[in-house]
Amino acid sequence: MSTITPLKQAFPLFDRHPGLVYLDASATCPKPLQVIAAERAYEETLSTNVGRGLYPLAEETTSRFEAVRSQVAYFIGASSECEIIFTAGTTASLNLAASLLKPLLETGNTILATELEHHSNYLPWVELARATKSNLRLASFTEDGSLNIEQLLSCIDAQTKIVALSALSNVLGTLNPIADIVQTIRATHPTVIIIVDAAQIVGHLPINVTAWDADLVAFSGHKMYGPTGIGVLFGKAALLEQCSPTLFGGGMVLDACANPTEYKPSPFCFEAGTPNISGVIGLGAALDFLENIGFEALRAHEKHLLTFAMTKLQENFGEQIHILGTSDIEKRGGLISFTLDALHPHDLAHILGEQQICIRAGEHCAAPLHRKLKLPATARISLGVYNTEEDIEKLIIGIKNAQTLFDTKTTLHSSI
Ligand code: PMP
Repeated sequence: MSTITPLKQAFPLFDRHPGLVYLDASATCPKPLQVIAAERAYEETLSTNVGRGLYPLAEETTSRFEAVRSQVAYFIGASSECEIIFTAGTTASLNLAASLLKPLLETGNTILATELEHHSNYLPWVELARATKSNLRLASFTEDGSLNIEQLLSCIDAQTKIVALSALSNVLGTLNPIADIVQTIRATHPTVIIIVDAAQIVGHLPINVTAWDADLVAFSGHKMYGPTGIGVLFGKAALLEQCSPTLFGGGMVLDACANPTEYKPSPFCFEAGTPNISGVIGLGAALDFLENIGFEALRAHEKHLLTFAMTKLQENFGEQIHILGTSDIEKRGGLISFTLDALHPHDLAHILGEQQICIRAGEHCAAPLHRKLKLPATARISLGVYNTEEDIEKLIIGIKNAQTLFDTKTTLHSSI
């Protein structure tokens, strides 16, 4: 039995689309009503800017906006609000991280990422390596989809300035032991800057950036039941103090006439211009939503459905199905990528879509990983709090329908 009552009724999407089976939380989560309502309430009742106006409505907006910053800091275990920079999402956070670190790199330095990364934690480093004439190396992974930590460590030398890795692979589902990895790196290379892509883990497992001891951590609101277009870059205060802003404009300077290059302290110097205020308010509501359920219950629900889905997929498709990554549920986040013999993932996703079952197919913005596995594409299901055993049962029937349709098509074709 699952330990939370699945929460479909909290999500208007399922009211609008009765019977919808949504198995694509890794791409984006449906938003609970309380998140939508919080954003709407801001636009309807406040609709003022932050950090500028001296009238009560604007002051109220600023105080609610900053309250969410404190909420985020608490949620991820940061030691201060000045470590929380609001961005447009993980991609924007990782690009900002690369821009902030650019002055620290010199010709011949190394940036180390991994073969597991999403393009958002790969392409900014490709570009940074090109711009600074540094070298980009990629650490590999083992057969069960775990990071090859020994090999990763062996790639680090005196030239290595940056290590970028994800806490949870969006394809293999592997949970990387970030605190252990960081500690091991720091033991021999204390000055390396470590960046964690936390996009896939935030809405599923509790994170604590202080325990991780990472320098920079990136994530998106929309993968944790919050709005799209809002994300966070956490940075250790001591590191951010050394970094220069990369975007210039309103709200980030102390006195633009007397000294236009004297900027406000972090995070304000990194947030020039009007931010996504309704997004931040909605993110606060998403954190409340997650905290109300509690991570213990969330993870128990996820593990229960993961086990159920793994078992059902294997029972029903036996040797025809190839599940990527570890079979150890403790080491896996709430997603399963797979291939099926004789059915291309794109065809499968399309046919399931016609049955109101939403899964993802393709490279999942992780082309280097797919090249390494010699797979043109994979199918992926990913779970949320609203999913039920019934959703998985419908998925199994849907896959069988797709197989029958393809068998029929093949038979018809070969008999013409
Ligand atoms: N990293 C990982 C591991 C992801 O799964 C994603 C989104 N699929 C991203 C980064 C990018 O997130 P966003 O599109 O919200 O910027």
